[in-house]
Amino acid sequence: MKKDTGKTKKETAGVCVQCGKAISVDEAIIIDEKIYCKACAEKIKMDEEKPKMLHKSAKNRMLGGVCGGLGEYFNIDPTIVRVIFAILLFVPSLRFWFMPLIYLLLWIIMTED
Ligand SMILES: [Zn+2]
Repeated sequence: MKKDTGKTKKETAGVCVQCGKAISVDEAIIIDEKIYCKACAEKIKMDEEKPKMLHKSAKNRMLGGVCGGLGEYFNIDPTIVRVIFAILLFVPSLRFWFMPLIYLLLWIIMTED
């Protein structure tokens, strides 16, 4: 006689805090005392390994999101970045096209948020 109890139903460790999926004990991955499923844990790991990228800001955007992105990157108020940009725009020793060119270059190299 074979015993088949506890074979079909896996013991659940909890619910993934990221996606809300119920996870079994052998699938659960705990990061910072929170339970994640394998897929979410992998995603978090990838995000951590990814270096901080200079990106255009989605929430702090006026023109192309460049100033907002710079502000977020350097942890400063995007308004300050815009003011600096505006001031530099009128610095007589800089060519009139210099700052727009910088802005354009940043806009090209920065990825979308
Ligand atoms: Zn998950």
